[in-house]
Amino acid sequence: MRIDILTLFPDTMRAMLGESILGRAQARGLLDIRCHQIRDYTENRQKQVDDYPYGGGWGQVMMAQPLKSCLDAALADSTVPAERRRVIYLSPQGPTFTQAKARQLKADYDQLVLVCGHYEGVDERFIEACVDEELSIGDFVLTGGELGAMVVTDCVCRMVPGVLSDTECYTGESHWDGLLEYPQYSRPEVWHDRAVPSILLSGHHANIAKWRRKQAFRRTKERRPDMYEKLDLSSKADKKLLREIEQENAEKNHDCE
Ligand code: SAM
Repeated sequence: MRIDILTLFPDTMRAMLGESILGRAQARGLLDIRCHQIRDYTENRQKQVDDYPYGGGWGQVMMAQPLKSCLDAALADSTVPAERRRVIYLSPQGPTFTQAKARQLKADYDQLVLVCGHYEGVDERFIEACVDEELSIGDFVLTGGELGAMVVTDCVCRMVPGVLSDTECYTGESHWDGLLEYPQYSRPEVWHDRAVPSILLSGHHANIAKWRRKQAFRRTKERRPDMYEKLDLSSKADKKLLREIEQENAEKNHDCE
């Protein structure tokens, strides 16, 4: 997977992306992440990338020319076919980025170009002419698109084969199949009088898997009822688990009376 990030802060981005799992994946050639300095593509002596907004108002707007020249340079040496490339502008006005969106981007494209705005945003004509889609990382406004680009890069890249040790590392996690993940525990067995649930020490893999799925159901229902409502729990195995949960809840309530 190739990712090109168009930004005014390439060094900051490189420092973040060079660490840990994504850093190692780049070193192993699994990911090709390139950060481009938009300012290098200005056509004025001051290397100015922004100017005042037509019509007045606060702040500055990023001009279309340096963005377009930077984009052209990022695409110039790409061997990825045009239909497998996607230009994305990080913007608070786009639809919200989700795990499902990350899966779709990973499946449909081999190169993502992530454009980071700054100041009051970018000239609308650049968006109209060059951007395939806009993505937001939430209903709030940030000073720049860099954090959004990091979020998209991290989420998409960890699903590239070989980046994590096994596909199960991400397919078993929250949001993959509409559930939140079960609670996790590590050593020691007892910490500050809190013991690890005994089932996890039993070594009985089938029972552990059942317990974890039940915990995931409980958690999702409690914390994200909106997600729980959308789940398809019509399989025989899930129906059985739901009956067991009801029974366990009834027993718990009885004990409390
Ligand atoms: N004036 C713009 C508006 O009201 O829609 C906001 C501009 S914001 C201060 C500057 C840049 O930060 C944007 O061009 C965008 O790239 C980035 N940005 C801000 N909030 C974002 C969000 N929620 N998701 C993704 N990018 C965001």
